[in-house]
Amino acid sequence: MVSSEIKNFGVMGYPVGHSLSPQMYKAAFEAAGFINYNYIPLQVHAGKLFMAVEAIKGLDFRGVNVTIPHKTTISKYLDAIDADALVIGAVNTVVNDGGMLTGYNTDVSGFLMALAEANFLPEGCNAVMLGAGGAARAVLWGLCKKRAECITIGARNPQKAQALANDFLQYGHVESFDWNSDEFKEIIQTADILINTTPLGMYPLVDDMPPVDLKLLPEGALVYDIIYNPIETKLLRTARELGYPTLDGLSMLLLQGQEAYRLYTGELPDMEIMTKTLKKILAQK
Ligand code: NAP
Repeated sequence: MVSSEIKNFGVMGYPVGHSLSPQMYKAAFEAAGFINYNYIPLQVHAGKLFMAVEAIKGLDFRGVNVTIPHKTTISKYLDAIDADALVIGAVNTVVNDGGMLTGYNTDVSGFLMALAEANFLPEGCNAVMLGAGGAARAVLWGLCKKRAECITIGARNPQKAQALANDFLQYGHVESFDWNSDEFKEIIQTADILINTTPLGMYPLVDDMPPVDLKLLPEGALVYDIIYNPIETKLLRTARELGYPTLDGLSMLLLQGQEAYRLYTGELPDMEIMTKTLKKILAQK
C-alpha cells in the first residue's frame, strides 16, 4: 500500500558521510510504500548537539539514528531513555512522539537477534569478548541479559577492560584481563563463543586481526566479529579455515536497523531489501 504521509528521519553524527543508514532506510521505506518518508545524513558538530536535538522537534522529525561522537552525550538532551540504553550508557536511536524524545539502543537487540539467527544460545555459555569500547557495552549487556555463565573481557588496555567489567558486575559474572596474559589464554580454551568488538580488521586495515591464537578455542566454538566492512574479516577467515563456525557483523547491523525501523513505524521492514541494499553498498566500498 502506498502512503503519501510525509515523515522525516536522519542520522546524526560527525562525520556522517560514511553512514550506510540513509540508503538502508530509504530502500526499506520505498519497499513499504512510504513514498514521502525522507531520510538524510545530518552532520552535527559536537558543540551544536543541543540545537540539533531541539531541531528534531522543531522540524517535526519522527526519528533519528545517532552515531559517533554523539551516542553518549545526546542522552542529557532527551526526555526519556529506554532501559537498555540506560544500562549501556549510549543511545543510537531517538523517537519523537509529538515532541517527547525517547532514546533507545538497538545494538543490543541487533546483537542478540543475530546470535539467535545463528542458533547460538547465550544462556549458560562461557563468552570471551575482545575490546572494551562503545560496542562492547552493548554486547556485554546482551550477554548479561541472556544470563551467560561467565563473560571475560580481553583488551589491550586492562584498566579500561576492568572499568567496563566493574560497570556490569551487578548483572553477571564478568571478569577482565590483558589479552596478552597467560590467564586470558587459559580462559580462551573454555570459550563457547569469542566476540571481537574492536575495529581490528575493519576496512581499510583489513590485514589486521586481534592478537588471539584461535587454535586455543575448543572445537565448535563460535567466532563472531561485529565488524561488517569487510563482511568476512581476517579473524573470521582464519577461524573458518581452522574449522570454527563464524558469524559476521552484517546481521547485527541489519537487525539493529530492523529494530529502529520498528520503533519509528510500528512495522517490520522488508529485510530482503535492506540486506540487498547493504551488501550492494559494501561491495562497492
Ligand atoms: P570504540 O568505542 O572506539 O572501541 C574500540 C575498542 O577497540 C576499544 O576497546 C579500543 O581500545 C579497541 N581498539 C581500537 N583500536 C585498537 C587497536 N589497534 N589495537 C587494540 N585494540 C584496539 O569503537 P566501537 O564503537 O566500540 O566500534 C568497534 C567496532 O564495532 C567497529 O569496527 C564498528 O564498526 C563495530 N560495530 C559494529 C556494529 C554492528 O552493528 N555490526 C555496531 C557497532 C559497532 P582502547 O580503549 O585501548 O583504545
